[in-house]
Amino acid sequence: MAVVRNLRIENGGEVSVQTMYDSALTMEKAPAIVSRISELAALGCSLIRFSFVSPDDYEPMRYIATHSVIPVAADIHFDYKMALLALDADVDKIRINPGNIGDKRKTEEVVKSAADHGAAIRIGLNSGSLPKSTEGMSVPDAMVSTALEYIDWFEKWGFTNTVVSLKSSDTEETMAAARSFARLSDYPQHIGVTEAGDPVISAVRSTWALGNLLKEGIGATLRISMTGEIEDEVIAGAELLRTLGLWKRGVRIVSCPRCGRHSFDTIAFEKKIRKRLLSLDKDITVAIMGCLVNGPGEAKGADYAVTGMKEKVYLYRKGSLVCSVRPEDAEAALFEAIGNE
Ligand code: SF4
Repeated sequence: MAVVRNLRIENGGEVSVQTMYDSALTMEKAPAIVSRISELAALGCSLIRFSFVSPDDYEPMRYIATHSVIPVAADIHFDYKMALLALDADVDKIRINPGNIGDKRKTEEVVKSAADHGAAIRIGLNSGSLPKSTEGMSVPDAMVSTALEYIDWFEKWGFTNTVVSLKSSDTEETMAAARSFARLSDYPQHIGVTEAGDPVISAVRSTWALGNLLKEGIGATLRISMTGEIEDEVIAGAELLRTLGLWKRGVRIVSCPRCGRHSFDTIAFEKKIRKRLLSLDKDITVAIMGCLVNGPGEAKGADYAVTGMKEKVYLYRKGSLVCSVRPEDAEAALFEAIGNE
């Protein structure tokens, strides 16, 4: 088990969702980043990672680590001094690939500093950055044997607050590596398909790979990497866990795709209210339907439903009609009804 501030990352525990901040750090932006982290947390994010690339990142990283409502991690490549600085900035976790830090003694210094600071470490290996010593091995075997070697180093230095990730942009390689590692080690895994593509493509690839792994009990924490908004990464991760029955909490949205019969633009409405709805601390189902073909029927199975019929939008609660409003008033009516619970 790894402990990252108040977050326990462990096999058999609740699977957590992570994301990675999408821009460089500046002190000027730090307060806005902290606010954005709170919004991400409301959507279901439990940990956020930042690239830490220069000494200039120290001040904003320290501010964010101090004010963030969820644990923060620093992502380090090549320069072990950045890892030491990030730990001094009080991050809760660092992600390193010891293979690109260079001299083993530098990794040892980082590991000892993490222990002194009470921080966790993720050994993060990607298929594209494996050591030369693994040439000739399959990618999954190379990742697993390299991770086990680094774990051995860490244990010899007395450090076990470790998470491991073995990622490839190839879903089969990602699954094979995670399965193989799970057979050989009890250390918790952070799972994800790396460089998974735009939101639609990533959602398909990630759901295939991570869904299979999670069904087998592999994966203590995950990221659905997207060439897109980090909020969507969190929404996708949370939805995957809900779909698999691993999370029982949160808002479940049922929405029709809209067709030529629609009298209410479900696409625009769902897009407009999605983040607000998914940020509610409620365990409810909300249906958003375009016409009377399936609207009243879906409303029966939902806690709340909005259904377009002719010029009006009808609001239901547990299948019973609450009121009818103009389409432009549907958002206010829906949230008022939910808020009055
Ligand atoms: S509910 Fe109505 S608008 Fe939506 S997809 Fe079905 S028939 Fe089309």
